[in-house]
Amino acid sequence: MDKRIFTSLLLVLFLTTTLSAQDGMRRRVMQQPKFVFLFIGDGMGHGQVSMAEAYLSSQKEEISNTPISFTKFPVMGMQTTYSANSYITCSSAAGTALSTGHKTNNGMLGVDPQGNKLESISYKIHRKGIPVGIVSSVTIDHATPAAFYANSNSRNNYYEIATQIPQTGFEFFGGGGFAQPTGPDKDQKNIYQVLEEGGYTVARGIKEYAAARGKGKIAFFQDKGKEADLPYAIDRKENDLCLAQVVAAAVDHLYGTKGFFIMAEGGKIDWAGHSNDGKANILEVLDFATAVQVAYNFYEKYPNETLIVVTADHETGGMTLGDEKNYVLALQQLEPQKISYAVATDQQKEEFSQLNKKAKIGWTTTGHTGVAVPVYAIGPGSRLFSGRIDNTEIPKKILQAMGIEME
Ligand SMILES: [Zn+2]
Repeated sequence: MDKRIFTSLLLVLFLTTTLSAQDGMRRRVMQQPKFVFLFIGDGMGHGQVSMAEAYLSSQKEEISNTPISFTKFPVMGMQTTYSANSYITCSSAAGTALSTGHKTNNGMLGVDPQGNKLESISYKIHRKGIPVGIVSSVTIDHATPAAFYANSNSRNNYYEIATQIPQTGFEFFGGGGFAQPTGPDKDQKNIYQVLEEGGYTVARGIKEYAAARGKGKIAFFQDKGKEADLPYAIDRKENDLCLAQVVAAAVDHLYGTKGFFIMAEGGKIDWAGHSNDGKANILEVLDFATAVQVAYNFYEKYPNETLIVVTADHETGGMTLGDEKNYVLALQQLEPQKISYAVATDQQKEEFSQLNKKAKIGWTTTGHTGVAVPVYAIGPGSRLFSGRIDNTEIPKKILQAMGIEME
């Protein structure tokens, strides 16, 4: 045999044996996560993330992108978001893909286009004895959180969706309350009573949560009288709950030897996108990043057992840095805006919208767009989330990381 060929053969053999030894070692040390967080920034595309980073830099009078909690994660991917019947998904079709691994038509929730029920991974995880928490800054019967526990031919059946909560047996629900607490015609049993009869301790506000800690199944909402979505970060008043507090409560309540699965949605990034409210949008992304920071602090304690995945369901507003041909972004122009469009008078809204224009925040629509959205991950199994992914693969990869069959 030619000596050169022999040497290269030896080299190949050496490489393959070392690699497979390393591979085996990696397989042995690669742990399955026990504690899994899935964060969904509703309407959070690359534009929204970059804008929030640029805003932080502009506060320091710098031209740069100041990283936020999850943009520092080591693994990054991109996720395609189209639904079964449109390039441009709505939150219920995207939520269904992210929770069940199946695409459906816009408007449908936890069912396929023919109306057959699909199962959320929350149930597959829960059947393994792992506690589950569902958290959102908007109402818990809204499309994204609902996709993780309910099935309905229409995302607008808020009351019917909410009444499915007791049958889930999931240990924690929290955040905003309910869109229709007594049904669409206000003639049904109060949903809070339905939850209590279904075995949930309903805690309203931090004090009640503190008293309810450790009690079986908890549903944790704002104080009485503030029963819908949590306020925008920009409008928050003292004693208002924020997403980070609810995530912290979920961790506190669910932590134990079995691990947990927490899905937490930042729902109002989307709402600020629909109203093309740049400042509210930026502060919602930063608020969402604070909620992810709670999970990251937990990860730092249990790095070999904690997986955090952060992504979006779709982009909203076609938001981008810059408009027209100016090559300028002037986010300091947003300084005078102290409240969201949602609570502003018509006149204030007009003034704020002029500030948005001066800040050179670009918008293409008041609806959703079909661009791919970012995926960030850290912890055991995080490598599964790198590269190009379809939204239907996210739940499959979560189960794969946890060592649970998709069925
Ligand atoms: Zn939306």
